[in-house]
Amino acid sequence: MGGQPLYLAPRLGERLRSLLESGELLHTLTDALGSPLNLVVPDQLAANLEQFRSVYRRHQLSGQVFFAHKANRSSALLRRLAATDAGVDVASLAELQHVLGAGFTPDRVMATGPKNPEFLWLAARTSVTVAVDGCDELEQLAGLVRKHALARVRVLLRLWGFETSGVRVLTRRSRFGTPVSELEPLLEAVERHGDVVDPVGVAYHLDTTGLGEKATALEGCLRVLEECRSRGLRTVAVDVGGGFGADYLADGEQWERYTTELTRAVLGTRPPLTWGGHGYGLRNEGGTLHGSLGLYPAHRPVAGPRYLDELLTRPAVSFDGRPLAALLLEHLYDLHIEPGRALLDQCGLTLAKVLEVRTGEDGGELLVRLAAKADDVALEEHGVLMDPVVVPRDPARPGDGPVAVHLFGSLCLETDLVTRRTVFLPRRPAPGDLLVFANTAGYCMDFHATHAQRQPVARKVAAWQEGGAWRWCLDDQYWPITSVGGAQ
Ligand SMILES: *Cc1c(COP(=O)(O)O)cnc(C)c1O
Repeated sequence: MGGQPLYLAPRLGERLRSLLESGELLHTLTDALGSPLNLVVPDQLAANLEQFRSVYRRHQLSGQVFFAHKANRSSALLRRLAATDAGVDVASLAELQHVLGAGFTPDRVMATGPKNPEFLWLAARTSVTVAVDGCDELEQLAGLVRKHALARVRVLLRLWGFETSGVRVLTRRSRFGTPVSELEPLLEAVERHGDVVDPVGVAYHLDTTGLGEKATALEGCLRVLEECRSRGLRTVAVDVGGGFGADYLADGEQWERYTTELTRAVLGTRPPLTWGGHGYGLRNEGGTLHGSLGLYPAHRPVAGPRYLDELLTRPAVSFDGRPLAALLLEHLYDLHIEPGRALLDQCGLTLAKVLEVRTGEDGGELLVRLAAKADDVALEEHGVLMDPVVVPRDPARPGDGPVAVHLFGSLCLETDLVTRRTVFLPRRPAPGDLLVFANTAGYCMDFHATHAQRQPVARKVAAWQEGGAWRWCLDDQYWPITSVGGAQ
């Protein structure tokens, strides 16, 4: 093996750790249901919700936590959430149908994203709140409500392009929503259709990890709300979208060391760390480093509820530097959030069986082929670099020290690599072992899954603890009734 192992160990909460220690159960499940297999842990979702709620309580804020459904298709997760007081953000007709069928009443549902007429109609028909993209969508919605004599629909106005006063730092461009500079015609349309739409507030969702940008957007929303109220609109809510993120890695030092070594590998001052010299956005041009590392900041201690807390304590320059939370509280505004990835932190595992372990050329990295496609474990797709955990078929087999491996998928395609980097494992895997990818519930489980080569997409299983033991059922068999831990 070339040099010291460079591990990127996953951060494991109690539930995932306990499942990983239940090797026999994991093997029984994959023997019965095939590989790959997804495992979701609904009770963890409820626990994560509670963490977000505690941030609300700390700042004495009201408002709703809307789970961004698009991050996972699971029914079990959704039904577990239906047994709490959380809401859901749906971004398609089928997601809205799914959510209504899981037990969410329309007052707990928000429709966002690009909408086709059927989605818009069902949203209006069932009286869910609609995050309106712009004037055209507002006209379309108003037209639907009139034509079908529906009840007045609550709408949030989704905006982007906020500026801080003084420094002109624009928040990033978005495909969705209305730029703040075009607010006037939007508000005029809202007023014109006041009999059929009820503007309850404003919204943004920025696809960034930058706290500064989000604080700018929230402050911008507060100014827009002032303007709305000065025009006599009864807007009372700010929806700050999602993007609170997750902390994937157990050890920040491993992350620092790994990224340093990756940089050195790209520069050629150490042996390669990837298949085919891939640089994850970095390039070597005549001995100097170019580009930037296009990776998720996998070690991210300020993520999820902590990220929300930090956002709320940011000062608002155009409001005498007062914290954003204080301004929300003073006006009794509702704060809505739409976390996807952050609510799904520690909520799932993806299991893949090892089919083949081949010795590499010149005694280099082992070539490990899995019974899973790269799309079944989409960590790489999301730029998340994190090691799988080896769960041996035979727990008594002695470990034989660390190995460096390449992880290949099951497609007949050169590019079907579960990850393009060399992965270091603390022990050599053998055919029949499982490689378990932790924390995949947010976007890495089913968002990218395909039927390529007529291979099956992973089945999904829901697991919960009861009397110290793990119980499980197929995802679509799960309902949060008495047999299910924690939901009563
Ligand atoms: C995707 C999305 C979210 C969730 O984003 P995360 O990064 O998963 O928290 C929330 N709101 C909207 C409108 C989205 O498109």
